Amino acid sequence: MYGKIKEHLRAELEAIEDAGLYKKERIITSSQKADIKINTGQKVLNFCANNYLGLSNHPRLIQAAKDALDSHGYGMSSVRFICGTQDLHQELEKRIADYFGTEDTILYAAAFDANGGVFEPILTSEDAIISDTLNHASIIDGVRLCKANRLRYESADMEDLEYQLKVAQKYRFRIIVTDGVFSMDGHVAPLDKIYELAEKYDAMVMVDECHSAGVVGKTGKGVSELFNLRGKVDIITGTLGKAFGGAIGGFTTGRKEIIDMLRQRSRPYLFSNSIPPAVAAAGIEVFKMLKESNDLHDKLVENTKYFKQKMLDAGFDIKPSKSAILAVMLYDAKLSQEFAAKLLEEGIYVIGFYYPVVPKEQARIRVQISAGHEKEHLDKAVAAFTKIGKELGVLK
Ligand SMILES: *Cc1c(COP(=O)(O)O)cnc(C)c1O
Repeated sequence: MYGKIKEHLRAELEAIEDAGLYKKERIITSSQKADIKINTGQKVLNFCANNYLGLSNHPRLIQAAKDALDSHGYGMSSVRFICGTQDLHQELEKRIADYFGTEDTILYAAAFDANGGVFEPILTSEDAIISDTLNHASIIDGVRLCKANRLRYESADMEDLEYQLKVAQKYRFRIIVTDGVFSMDGHVAPLDKIYELAEKYDAMVMVDECHSAGVVGKTGKGVSELFNLRGKVDIITGTLGKAFGGAIGGFTTGRKEIIDMLRQRSRPYLFSNSIPPAVAAAGIEVFKMLKESNDLHDKLVENTKYFKQKMLDAGFDIKPSKSAILAVMLYDAKLSQEFAAKLLEEGIYVIGFYYPVVPKEQARIRVQISAGHEKEHLDKAVAAFTKIGKELGVLK
């Protein structure tokens, strides 16, 4: 039985490899942090994790998780509504709502599930979802799983959004959906303008803050803080897998009735296991820490500013960014791969992206800054970039 599909899959896999798109995994043998060890024995500086606040390996999170293993056990063996809700889950939900200034929060196993399960419970074929073309795959899947009418607008293009909102007036309810920070460029969604248009055309607003929460805004509380829209965004989705500790877990936070309805009808919530107590406890610790002090976020902002300026001074072309993602533009696909490989030899771990992950002729190296980086790490990276840049003729 398997023979034919085996041949078919082999051919497909070969095609993926031939196109240079086969994803190989590099093996890390240390914990996740700024200076990691890989299985070749090499020590490298990590500039490609979403570890924005440097919390992935933080002693306070590790201790909180260990304590919870002792007090609350290992797993829940249940979904939330049967016998999978502990005090820890509820406390974490409250702390997330407090952080974002929202009314209530619902936890998921991942932000992928939060986005996958957010639309179908609240919208029907009478309604419309208006989605940014560059939105994350999980939003696209969530939209697919819902019967609402689908409209798309060119990324961050407010003229196009307005046009789509006009088209969508014939439907009962409308929701505009956007990533807070777009992960390939690091640009921020123009949420101020989106909010204005939403008011004008009677639409709800949903923002996926996965790459922006902990990073963007005066105290890092995301694009809703950046644009003074705290408490005004109807739905925020986010992850515990990036700035907030980097383990696993996602959430939807926002209007009380929406969250209530998700608890009743959201399929990834109803039919998938509760997050482990240790993860919930470490999550609680994250939001405690972020309430106590803004030092980690301040350091991230300082590090990003420092690295970006040094790279611009060195002559690199970096896309405008208000986040901790910096796209070092090389434009040429092959060059981006060669550049990243040479950087790794210099002990700098970054990824080169090219078409179809980014538009044609827009190949780049994506650098992600962390509060876990020290000045000497940043200086070493800039020096390596400059050396390879000269070697490959990118810099004069
Ligand atoms: C990473 C990411 C997700 C998925 O988060 P997980 O918790 O890892 O599932 C969803 N949306 C955006 C915009 C992301 O960057």
